[in-house]
Amino acid sequence: MAISFEIPERITQETAMLKAVAENVMRPISREMDEHEHERPWPFINMMWPIMRDMQAKQLEKLSAEGGDKPKREGPGIGNLRMICTVEQLSWGDVGIWLCMPAAALGGYAIEATGTREQKLKFLKRFAEGDTPVWGAMAMTEPGAGSDPASIQTTARLDPETNEWVLNGEKIFCTSGKLALEDSNGLVVVWATLDRDAGRAGMKSFVVEAGTPGVKIAKVEKKHGIKVSDTAAIVLDNARVPYDHILGDPEIRQKSEGKVGFKGAMATFDASRPMVAASALGVGRAAVEFVKEQLAKEGIEIPYGKPKGQLTAIQSDVIEMEAQWKAAWLLTLRATSMLDHGLQNSLEASMAKAKAGKAVTQITQKAVELLGPQGYSRDWLVEKWMRDGKINDIYEGTGQINLLIIARRILSYSSKELA
Ligand SMILES: Cc1cc2nc3c(=O)[nH]c(=O)nc-3n(C[C@H](O)[C@H](O)[C@H](O)COP(=O)(O)OP(=O)(O)OC[C@H]3O[C@@H](n4cnc5c(N)ncnc54)[C@H](O)[C@@H]3O)c2cc1C
Repeated sequence: MAISFEIPERITQETAMLKAVAENVMRPISREMDEHEHERPWPFINMMWPIMRDMQAKQLEKLSAEGGDKPKREGPGIGNLRMICTVEQLSWGDVGIWLCMPAAALGGYAIEATGTREQKLKFLKRFAEGDTPVWGAMAMTEPGAGSDPASIQTTARLDPETNEWVLNGEKIFCTSGKLALEDSNGLVVVWATLDRDAGRAGMKSFVVEAGTPGVKIAKVEKKHGIKVSDTAAIVLDNARVPYDHILGDPEIRQKSEGKVGFKGAMATFDASRPMVAASALGVGRAAVEFVKEQLAKEGIEIPYGKPKGQLTAIQSDVIEMEAQWKAAWLLTLRATSMLDHGLQNSLEASMAKAKAGKAVTQITQKAVELLGPQGYSRDWLVEKWMRDGKINDIYEGTGQINLLIIARRILSYSSKELA
């Protein structure tokens, strides 16, 4: 498959508009939001809601008009490419504030990956209408199940009398969980098992809407970085959802056809990992650009093309930061392009995520180091980017787990053979 690394003009123009949002709406409140954990970035939320709502409405109109589970299109799309460019630019503005964007977010990815056409139209509608912002989220992680999602303990049981699913369990570290369940008429896609003995085949996802009895936000985390982003613990205590809130096929099939059950969870990551990689790279670019600006003020320029032996240590470090950034961006473009071409991209999505997570960690640490004590002070945002950027190496599969997935795929080992 030929991958074009050219970004279409339409997307470049949109990205330029988003740069203005990042510069004028996000950056001015970046520090304040960091220092007042759990306050909401309303100027950003109110500005983005109509844009996100109308985008979702267009997608649903298309889905509604086309029929079938997958929208038919001529040739590859550019929807995911557009999304990574958006995410990269807004994360350049502030990654925590970007995470507060009102949209279906990870919940939407899960619905897209595992839901039927009717379910997509039904559950995503709330993100496509109204004047009040709405959030979506996805809850997979539990106190005993993070890197190994197949070991989740949350259960779902069908009550034959009411034809409802009854959910019990505890979910932790759910991004925008409170925004979705308490602060708006949103939803959380909750992963649960129908039968623990069935292993991965028993894993299913359920749409839990705001206001569902038996669902409680137990805690909102205080964090090292992305402090403005809401990260919630959710308790499901006999929470009842209607029968059609199970996404995809309700049957437990050992050899499941299509992207349901555990395969559905993995398909969600195929789409979301390139986005997380792009988010990492937005933070990384912010740090590299800032370092270069500060060095330029000191009269230090970066002489590209010179042999390494003729560079100063600082120049060499900056070029290394940029090289790491570029390698990760190219991997991200590849994973995204495959997604837009409808190709299986699990390996490439993990590669992009692993590389970008590591790159942002190294780049932001190096930026703090190169800028000396001021880099470590709160006068500048660099120390914050170092704290914020690290999250991209943790959620949606840690760096280690993505490397494990890459190794399994390249060497053709199963998860049992290479654990
Ligand atoms: C701010 C934030 C937001 C989050 N948002 C969400 C969300 O919206 N929804 C959601 O479901 N989850 C979310 N998470 C959870 C996140 O996805 C998990 O934290 C992550 O998958 C790691 O799981 P864990 O925390 O249980 O770590 P563990 O699985 O306990 O891992 C601990 C360490 O051991 C390493 N490790 C584990 N197994 C292996 C192995 N086999 N080989 C090598 N190393 C290994 C890991 O890489 C890690 O470094 C969020 C987390 C954070 C911090």
